Amino acid sequence: LEAYAHKNGFKIMKTFQDVETAKRAGRQSFNKMVEYLQTHDDCNIILVEKTDRLCRNFRDWVTLNELDCEIHLVKEGVVYHQDVRSSDKLTQGFKVLMSEHYVNNLREETKKGMREKAEQGLYPSCAPLGYLNDRATGTIYPDPVRAPIIRRLFEEYATGHHSLKTLTRLARDMGLTSRKGRKVGMSSIAYALGKLIYTGDFKWDGVIYRGKHEPIISRELFDEVTRRRTADSHPQHQRIKHAFKGMVRCGTCGCLVTAETHKGKYIYYHCSHARGDCTEKAVTEKSLSEMLGRPLKRLRLTEERIQWLLDEIRADDSDSESKRMAGRRKLENEKTEIQNRLNLIYEDKLSGTITAEFWKQKNDEYQKRQEWINGELIRYDRQHTTNMESVERIIELTQKAYSLYVKQDSFEQRKMLDLLQSNSTMRDRKVTVELRKDVAAIADGADLDRELLSQGRPISDGNEKWYPIQDSNL
Ligand SMILES: [Zn+2]
Repeated sequence: LEAYAHKNGFKIMKTFQDVETAKRAGRQSFNKMVEYLQTHDDCNIILVEKTDRLCRNFRDWVTLNELDCEIHLVKEGVVYHQDVRSSDKLTQGFKVLMSEHYVNNLREETKKGMREKAEQGLYPSCAPLGYLNDRATGTIYPDPVRAPIIRRLFEEYATGHHSLKTLTRLARDMGLTSRKGRKVGMSSIAYALGKLIYTGDFKWDGVIYRGKHEPIISRELFDEVTRRRTADSHPQHQRIKHAFKGMVRCGTCGCLVTAETHKGKYIYYHCSHARGDCTEKAVTEKSLSEMLGRPLKRLRLTEERIQWLLDEIRADDSDSESKRMAGRRKLENEKTEIQNRLNLIYEDKLSGTITAEFWKQKNDEYQKRQEWINGELIRYDRQHTTNMESVERIIELTQKAYSLYVKQDSFEQRKMLDLLQSNSTMRDRKVTVELRKDVAAIADGADLDRELLSQGRPISDGNEKWYPIQDSNL
């Protein structure tokens, strides 16, 4: 890279290097480099050997793109910058994908190696707190300083006189430090208490292996600690999800409506009071679900309208289909014509009627036209022809929307509502649902049809409502 820089007259401002390992996810130097480039406007060229050295994933690629730098991939002989041709951008994107694949591959290989090690009873990773790595044999052995403290911590916790907090304090008092000499935190203590490895066995990738290393504690002690920890954790603090949370706004103050569970089973929705006190009252989940789903009833079309829709679409479909077929036939004819001409000039060339030069010129011309026609034919074949089956399926869904809704659980209902509605508000325990624009158009049309029929009028009076209108926003 230095030679390249020298040859091109670049001044090297700073060098960044990341050591490649499969298990370390973050690349510190990469981040430092990005930071450097962001703060140094006078430096806008990156030199790197190959794509896979620079980008690990698309996130990296986007980051680099945003830097607006010239990137020289020296070994690949490519210079990349913002206004490079889009086809090159695509190639570049693929290379990033490939390097991502390469890293994943490497990760797989490493994982395989580690599993093989585990099967031999050797802990495949860095020794946990209380053990040390023996680099020569690849084994771990009890840390003479920390192992006794770890054992003591298990024993103390098993007595039931400790919380994680007091146990952490005890650990610090006994001088327990991390490998890097830092004070241990509560999370490391909690983590250590759950490590089976201290009993002589260890868990790797979800599988328990019999280790070859010396145990620090007995299995009985470990099990007792695990039992206590499960009992001490507080399940009542676990978060319960609420299906309709965050989708309705309070009609009085505009805050989002949030949820709460009472006595473990009754779910109430109410204004979050994020903008101070609000007088809105709470509603039950059942009532909210019912109010949110009600507008879906409006999507049901009358039999008359369904028939009309299918006829209209079928007519439109056959019209565009016949146009498409005519266009395609014309191209096919021209293709045959050109093939004839190609054959003719070839014979002319053989018989010496035309020069080789003239033949080549004409031949290229015809072949180019042929290629163009082939491309056009493909385009014609791909052209969208309305698929009646999918139209029928959509109609069927509108007919069932409400009955499907009431049969689902609240989480499925939420998914459905997210597709159909955009803004809903709650005021005086009443919910106003605003359907998405396109969905609302169907509902309005269906409403009108029902009204016409009830007045004994034909639905054709409402046809206008069903034709597409050109929006100002194309
Ligand atoms: Zn409110």
